[in-house]
Amino acid sequence: MIKYHPSKQLMQKHILGELPAGLSVAIAAHIELCDKCSNEFELLEVQQASATFDAPCEEKESFEFESMIDDITKLSMYDQLVSQEPEVFEYQDKRVQLPRAIAALKLGSFMNAGKVSRARFELDEGPLRSSLLHIKPGGEIPEHTHTGFELTLLLDGTFEDESGQYVPGDFIMLDGRHNHSPRTKDGCLCFTLVDNALHFNKGLSKLLNPIGKLIY
Ligand SMILES: [Zn+2]
Repeated sequence: MIKYHPSKQLMQKHILGELPAGLSVAIAAHIELCDKCSNEFELLEVQQASATFDAPCEEKESFEFESMIDDITKLSMYDQLVSQEPEVFEYQDKRVQLPRAIAALKLGSFMNAGKVSRARFELDEGPLRSSLLHIKPGGEIPEHTHTGFELTLLLDGTFEDESGQYVPGDFIMLDGRHNHSPRTKDGCLCFTLVDNALHFNKGLSKLLNPIGKLIY
């Protein structure tokens, strides 16, 4: 059962379009996987819609439809939306149906460091990096923390860290206060979003750096 969900505040910002693309993609994908959040999201959308229509008239008059459409079509993200159909992703002899929000994005090629492989999504987000990550059975990421944040949406398989085990659909948001060393027994596939290179806590940091760079 999914235990980790985006906060209500994040969902509201997602509805208002205030989040960076990668974070919106992760929330939309989680909503596809989670009935609880799908229901909550519908409710929040209705609330937001009625709040918008109840807004004072002056605001409505300053709403310029033409320029809004111009702005939308100028967004480079729309050039990158290649498909709205769920896509099957093959890894480690498994076939995984990706959430539509993720399948719609263009993916670069995979790079490997040991049991960890990562391909970056082509989203133009400044210091934010969205990736598809898969870890082979028995693989782990050495204990690390973050100067920024790390979001993981588990898509297939399981992994565990000091807080317990995660299942597909879990939306795990960590920041600089968390140290963790995720590991997977049977392999896993994740969507990740990080806003800064990982910071490894224990020795061997030079040796481990390739993994840090790979994941950021
Ligand atoms: Zn949820």
